[in-house]
Formats: sequence, structure tokens, C-alpha cells
Amino acid sequence: MARIFEERDGDLSTLEGRTVAVLGYGNQGRSQALNLRDSGVAVVVGNRSDRFRDDMREDGFEPHTLSEATALGDVVMVLLPDEIHHEVLPRDVFGFLKPEATVVFAHGYSVHFREVEVPEGCDICLVAPKMVGLGVRDLFLKGRGFPSLVAVHRDATGRAWPTALAVAKGIGSLRAGAWETTFEEETITDLFGEQVGGSGAIVGLFRSFETLVAAGYDPDVVELELLGSGELVEVIRAQLRHGVIESLSVHSPTSHFGQLHRAQELLDGGGDDRLGRIIRELQDGTFAELWRRERADGYRRMRELQRRFTDHEFVRTQARNRKRLRESLEDGTGGPPS
Ligand code: NDP
Repeated sequence: MARIFEERDGDLSTLEGRTVAVLGYGNQGRSQALNLRDSGVAVVVGNRSDRFRDDMREDGFEPHTLSEATALGDVVMVLLPDEIHHEVLPRDVFGFLKPEATVVFAHGYSVHFREVEVPEGCDICLVAPKMVGLGVRDLFLKGRGFPSLVAVHRDATGRAWPTALAVAKGIGSLRAGAWETTFEEETITDLFGEQVGGSGAIVGLFRSFETLVAAGYDPDVVELELLGSGELVEVIRAQLRHGVIESLSVHSPTSHFGQLHRAQELLDGGGDDRLGRIIRELQDGTFAELWRRERADGYRRMRELQRRFTDHEFVRTQARNRKRLRESLEDGTGGPPS
């Protein structure tokens, strides 16, 4: 079982006399910079363009370029999109790092797949919030935490772990806990979760929609049942709060029996070869190579897939129902569970 670090495991005094440079002011960058500063840490921020200059000033930060911020940082937080690390870090960051800097990533991708080589002498850490950027700030302000995964890939200075845990504490994550992991484990499980969970949800919705509409049922009614009502949000919330199986008791007995019966039927159908193939392709780098080629090709296949899915009748139906239900969906609920 993974070790879980709590509030008492992080010591903010590890960061005393050190400056944390936050690179990027997007989803994670702004939230993490503000949380760290509110935790008493000395923070500087850096960004490529002028886009967030006014926001930075309004937040009380002096805007720096990525290189300037890096040069000021004893701890450098890379909060830039993963797919540009290989281009930006060697050019604007690595040459400006202090000799014994700690470089902290929020996702292991570029390090695990060797798209970047952090200079020798620097620590390489991971503090990966399992939370969107807005949530990182919002929960911090409410005095609550959010889980994260932490790892050390290279401990060059002998203080990589205390630094990673101090950062995790400073951004507010240790209030909920930080699970120890490795760069490999965080990367592969994150990709697997997205590719299996995310694609499974899309396929489940599209196939169910096609099946019911082909059987003669009204697309609007079908979409409302599958997604549009927002009931699914409440079902997932109940699964999180009470447990996947325990929460079935809030459904009708017919729904309760039907869900378990169909789940068992699918599980009895044998192992899913597709899952085995996906994990192999993630582990052996096939997917990373596919994604690298896709980027080099100007995202051609991504645009084609986006177009193909957007053209589907399900998407048009959903837009229609969404427009009508905008108000009830805005507060996060769509209607009572059945
Ligand atoms: P964002 O897309 O929000 O990052 C935007 C920032 O990146 C901006 O400051 C932008 O600068 C800069 N940027 C974009 N393109 C370039 C470029 N070509 N060169 C230089 N700077 C560039 O990223 P996220 O905050 O979503 O993700 C940051 C890291 O956090 C990633 O490693 C991600 O995997 C990880 N993460 C993200 C989570 C999330 O919920 N988003 C959750 C957990 C981890 P400009 O203003 O100049 O465009």
C-alpha cells in the first residue's frame, strides 16, 4: 500500500530562505503560486507572453520571463503544458537553473518518456495535484485540501523529499494527503485513467444513444436519460460519498438489480483485451510515440476525430437539451435520482 503523507510530514521551514519560481500562470500555475505565497513561501512567477501580466500584477506578483524566474528560483515548479516541455525547458529554463535547484513537475510525462533531461545536480520531484487548478485555489481558501501524488525521481541534493513535501504542504495538499508514487506510476496510471475511463464514457454514451435511437426512441428523450438531466452527476457524487455498491441503495430496487445483473454479465464476458493492449502501449512508449508524431503532424488526426465526434447526432441532441436545461444544470444538479 502506498505511503500517505499528512500535514505533519511537511515542514515549510524547508523552504525558508529559498525562493520558489512558478513557471506558467495557467490552470495550475496561478493557483499554486497564490497558495504557496499564502503559506508564507517566497514566490516569483514567470510566463512566456504578456497574456497574464495584468493578472500577475493584480495578484501582487512582479511578472518575469520564464528564464528570469528560473534564475531566481531555488525550487522551480514547471506548470506548463506537458507537450511543450521538450521545446521550452531546454531553451528557456535548463540553462538558467541554479546548480542545486529542485525542479518540481505536476505530471511525470515528459520526464518518464525522456522528452526532457533535467541538468545533473538538480533534484527532480513530482507534486501532482489530483485536482483541477481552480479547485486547488478554491479548496485552499476554504481551508480544505485535495489529494496529490508525490515522487522523487532524482535526489541530487539529499533534500529532495523534504522539499517535495514542503511544496505539497504549501499548496495545501497535505490537508487531504499526498500518496507516494513514482514518475512511471503517476504517468501510466494517469494516462490509463484518461484513456480508459474517458473513452469508455464517450463510447458508452454514443453506443447507447445509437442503439436506443435505432430502436425508434426519440433522440431528445434518450439524451436526457443518458446524460442531459445531470442525474449522472448525482450518481457519481453518491458513489464517491457512500461507495460504488453501497450507494445503489438510493436507487429503486429495479435499478439496483438491473445494474448489478448487467455488471456481472459484462464481467462474466471475459477479460477485456483492449485494456491489456492499452496498458502495454502506454508502458512500451507506443502511445507516447503516437502523440509525438501527432504533434509533429500539426494535430491533424486530433482535428479529424474532433470533427467526426462533433458531427454525431448525440452531440447535436445534447446541445438542444443543454440549452433548455441550462439553469437547472448550472447549480450542478439536474434533477432527482430515480
Ligand atoms: P495550462 O495549459 O493552464 O498552462 C498555461 C501556461 O502555459 C500559460 O502560462 C502559458 O503561457 C504557458 N504556455 C503554453 N504554451 C506555451 C509555450 N509554447 N511556451 C511557453 N509557455 C507556454 O497548463 P496546466 O496548468 O493545465 O498544466 C500545467 C501542468 O500541471 C502540466 O504538467 C499538467 O499535466 C499538470 N496538471 C494539470 C492539471 C489540471 O487540472 N490542469 C491537474 C494536475 C496536473 P502563455 O500565457 O504565454 O500562453
